[in-house]
Amino acid sequence: MTGRTTLSPSTVAITAGRPPREPGRPLNTPITPATALVPGGDSEYSRHGNPGWDPFEQILGELEGGHAVSFSSGQAATSAVVDLVPRDGLVVVPRGAYNGTLDLIGERARRGFFRVESVDVDNTPQVVDAMKGASMLWLETPTNPTLLEADLDEICRAARTADTVVVVDNTFATPLRQRPLDHGADVVVHSASKLLSGHSDVLMGAVVARDPRARRTFERRRTRLGATPGSLETYLAARGLRTLHVRLDRAEANAKELHARLSRSRQVVYSRYPGFGTIIAFEVVGGPDAADKVTSMSEIVVHATSLGGVESTWERRRRHAAEPATVPDGLIRLSVGIEDVEDLWADVEQALTGAR
Ligand SMILES: *Cc1c(COP(=O)(O)O)cnc(C)c1O
Repeated sequence: MTGRTTLSPSTVAITAGRPPREPGRPLNTPITPATALVPGGDSEYSRHGNPGWDPFEQILGELEGGHAVSFSSGQAATSAVVDLVPRDGLVVVPRGAYNGTLDLIGERARRGFFRVESVDVDNTPQVVDAMKGASMLWLETPTNPTLLEADLDEICRAARTADTVVVVDNTFATPLRQRPLDHGADVVVHSASKLLSGHSDVLMGAVVARDPRARRTFERRRTRLGATPGSLETYLAARGLRTLHVRLDRAEANAKELHARLSRSRQVVYSRYPGFGTIIAFEVVGGPDAADKVTSMSEIVVHATSLGGVESTWERRRRHAAEPATVPDGLIRLSVGIEDVEDLWADVEQALTGAR
């Protein structure tokens, strides 16, 4: 052993979730395309468990400081967590957050499964007040795409007295920039389709629980819902996790620089960036029409939805009908990749100028 009691996240990302070091064994757990497995082990059927899921779950669990369960998408993970709300319970949600999450929770509330109340996540007194009597507080911090941040310490402290389960969607920050379980949150949710896998080629999600018994609960829900990831997907997501720290450092350095330059541009009304992570939200002079023009004119930055890949992408979020009206109509969400920052800026600048 190295004698170090806690390894740095960069080392964990590389060393966690490996098969035993035995002669002839591969360094990586192979992809296991199997439905049926020989009885006597952890699982006999791949909806209940597949050995290919272990590396991703072990790496992510260690990075978040909890117990990870993989799902077929971030939305499936969200669904499994929201299913825990008792009938007629109250769920507190952000006023602006990932549209799929608000849609799922809103639809279930309309069908009478539970009640829902919306809050501004950056308004701590409002969140704490709404939490009284709530079964679950759903947080996203920073929020997608408005980048509002919640005070996790204050809110989690209040949640303990209120007996509210605190869930944090940690997709934007990743465990390398924020570990919600350390702040007192009960459950973390991820869209692994974004930064964790990092190459825009995997649809996957995860739930990370502080309590090992909660892990069993989520595994059972995954089985029941049939929200199981494919063995290829968990392989690719684990492979992505191995380089998360390097990709994040580079994309974040790019994002800081682009945010600074956007803030100085005369064509930009404002640029918002939380100071960490890879997402920038900004608006341009000329409103939604100008925003559509700008995003259509880039040559390196891809005009596309989704985020967290090695390639930079941007879009005007409200071009999607499902996007909440709390998101400004002209807001452009820029997901910064790991290209050369000068090439990126030259592209952004020509798009801003060309759209004038
Ligand atoms: C994309 C996203 C989700 C949904 O994840 P999918 O993998 O697309 O199902 C949930 N939360 C946030 C913050 C996201 O960006």
